[in-house]
Amino acid sequence: MKRRRIAIVGAGFSGAAVAAQILKRRRAPDVVLIERGRRFGPGLAYGGPERAHLLNVRAANMSVFPDQPDDFVRWLNRRQRRDHATLFAPRPHYGAYLEDVLDRAARRAWGRLKRVRGVAIACRMVEPGWVVELEGGGTIEADAVVLATGNAASVMPSVFESGGVAVLDAWNPEAVRRMRRGESALMIGVGLTMIDLALTLSRDARAGPIYALSRRGLLPRAHLQDPAPAAVTTLALPSDLSEALHVFRREVRLMAEKGEPWQHAVDRLRAQTPDLWRRLTLEQQERFLRHLRPWWDVHRHRFAPEIAARVAELQASGRLRILSGEIVSAKRGSRGGFELQHRQRGSLVRHRMEVQRVINCTGSSRDVTNSADSLMRQLLDDGLARAHANGLGLDTDGDCRVISASGEPHATMVTLGPLTQGVFWESTAVPEIRVRAALLADLLCG
Ligand SMILES: Cc1cc2nc3c(=O)[nH]c(=O)nc-3n(C[C@H](O)[C@H](O)[C@H](O)COP(=O)(O)OP(=O)(O)OC[C@H]3O[C@@H](n4cnc5c(N)ncnc54)[C@H](O)[C@@H]3O)c2cc1C
Repeated sequence: MKRRRIAIVGAGFSGAAVAAQILKRRRAPDVVLIERGRRFGPGLAYGGPERAHLLNVRAANMSVFPDQPDDFVRWLNRRQRRDHATLFAPRPHYGAYLEDVLDRAARRAWGRLKRVRGVAIACRMVEPGWVVELEGGGTIEADAVVLATGNAASVMPSVFESGGVAVLDAWNPEAVRRMRRGESALMIGVGLTMIDLALTLSRDARAGPIYALSRRGLLPRAHLQDPAPAAVTTLALPSDLSEALHVFRREVRLMAEKGEPWQHAVDRLRAQTPDLWRRLTLEQQERFLRHLRPWWDVHRHRFAPEIAARVAELQASGRLRILSGEIVSAKRGSRGGFELQHRQRGSLVRHRMEVQRVINCTGSSRDVTNSADSLMRQLLDDGLARAHANGLGLDTDGDCRVISASGEPHATMVTLGPLTQGVFWESTAVPEIRVRAALLADLLCG
């Protein structure tokens, strides 16, 4: 009998977690993991070499397997002989852990794991399964396909392109390494990507000032030194966005009166968020994205306390300056640098500034309709997938089955991770993705 085969496109955390989960199943099918990068497992988030870049979730919550929550901590402890449970581990360690998870899964499985290095450029339905086409001509036949392509390249404000300003990509370490010592930089975006880069650049004591700009200039908040206690009760949140916000704010105020930090409230909300999100109307989701998202992001996606201390030092010394507002004009300046006009939020006054580099730190774009990626374009153009109406990723049903342009979910094409943010909102971090990976393995293995 022909063995079943599942093709997974993308071998970052999401792809690796689904592969490991499938291979754990009894009589697991074969898995073909397709990755355009050099390594299988780390993906974009955990593939960098910098040990100063820490995970933003404690090690105790970063196991690939929800039913073996100490897997990552035990892996760390075995290597470093200390207890890492409450620590924020270096991201390169996590990348190595993910590679090891795949190796272990492959050794023990009934089905085979085949790692294919290549770029998937199309995925066509050839009944009863799929054919994935690779750049350069190869094809892979599969009974089911998992789209785990993850974080897509971000989009830059057009002002830079029209001004002839070359913008470096923060996720391209080669481009950033080519920066000359002592150069000043403007980073577009004030989130966790900007912080990674500020830490890297500021290691050079001569680095010029680093400016970081976003519309509101909101910096992510820090995690507490001690982890939040497990939730005792869940907050009953109404399905209406304004009412839910009202109830949540009241809860935070009551907690503050009892001396409990707001971080606990945000962490407790996390398990409920996908359900609440799915109960909101499209109009309410859009309202959230327009008005509340920046606030949500900085309170929800926090960084390790030790990183917070370093960022505070950089700010206090003036080496890192956070700006709010926008760049209204940009052009090439003297000495290879760029001349920019910055308008501060809430003001009409423009300030002239000169920097040697502009770096895009805006993070991943979730708007697939503008995607330059061949696979995504083909799936949308052929009507095999459709964008989520709220503009975040692909539309799927509650089981992560990709919905076609005609509104039908495919039984054998699924997705997870950042591409499902429109459906679940809470879908980009390990604690959520690993649960979906396990559910998808159940679904695909019948
Ligand atoms: C810098 C950074 C740090 C983060 N830190 C944390 C953290 O500490 N804790 C946490 O819980 N979450 C963190 N996250 C959130 C992160 O999104 C998830 O944890 C997770 O990495 C998402 O994995 P993914 O596989 O979906 O995406 P990605 O990591 O983006 O991986 C997708 C992979 O698919 C490959 N790919 C894409 N298209 C194709 C194609 N057509 N053909 C072949 N291969 C393809 C890419 O090369 C890539 O390797 C972080 C995110 C970033 C960006």
